[in-house]
Amino acid sequence: MAKMKEVGRKIRKALCPFCRDKDEVIPILYGFPSAKGFKRAERGEVFIGGYDVGPNRFYCKRDNREF
Ligand SMILES: [Zn+2]
Repeated sequence: MAKMKEVGRKIRKALCPFCRDKDEVIPILYGFPSAKGFKRAERGEVFIGGYDVGPNRFYCKRDNREF
């Protein structure tokens, strides 16, 4: 079986515990986001979690919940 070519950008994906899917899961970005971070948030690629680091690492756009 041929190995799939690796995609350049590395974003860790997690399974949402609520809808049990990962296609709407994005990583949460803590701290003050860079301009690049803001752009990614606008595109829905990351979720701005705020200045204080919270216990959650991911955000599900389908459920609007952090986990
Ligand atoms: Zn979900």
